[in-house]
Amino acid sequence: MAFELPELPFAMDALAPHISRRTLEFHYGKHHQAYVNNLNKGVEGTDMEGMSLEDVIMAAEGGLFNNAAQTWNHTFYWNSMTPDGGGEPGGDLGDAIGSAFGSYDAFRQEFTQAAMTQFGSGWAWLVDDGSGLSVMKTPNADLPMKHSAKALLTVDVWEHAYYLDYQNARATYVDTFMDHLVNWDSVAARMG
Ligand code: MN
Repeated sequence: MAFELPELPFAMDALAPHISRRTLEFHYGKHHQAYVNNLNKGVEGTDMEGMSLEDVIMAAEGGLFNNAAQTWNHTFYWNSMTPDGGGEPGGDLGDAIGSAFGSYDAFRQEFTQAAMTQFGSGWAWLVDDGSGLSVMKTPNADLPMKHSAKALLTVDVWEHAYYLDYQNARATYVDTFMDHLVNWDSVAARMG
């Protein structure tokens, strides 16, 4: 069975004014859809047809890896955001971030720094690297599962994620993501 573009977990205009309907029409409707379409073309007729997305990501290389990983990364990114999200998390998650990074502000600074210093296209992540919480950044389609880390949160810093709304101001987009969009409930659920 072919891979399908999953439903967005919110309405197309639900993240406005931080991320506009127009950005989502292109980013979800065109870019994410294209990754899914190219993934399906890439596995068709190969021994990867019928594999789970994660198995394809771990087995594939080159263009097929890029399309499989980008399919996964974008679904993960949509689920990293929610209307009226962001800010400092409370509860056990807030305690875990405080223990790992010293404070929420220190985490926020490290995550933002990763997002800002990813040269060109890529992703910044909060992960569980096996020894605890840490921040990482990956270029292009690369992702934590290729580095034996479990993804907990991501922000897409490809220009297509922010250029329509913020032009070249990646810092404003990342600040907005942190302060208004992070879905901490989904992060907490992933930590289990
Ligand atoms: Mn993207």
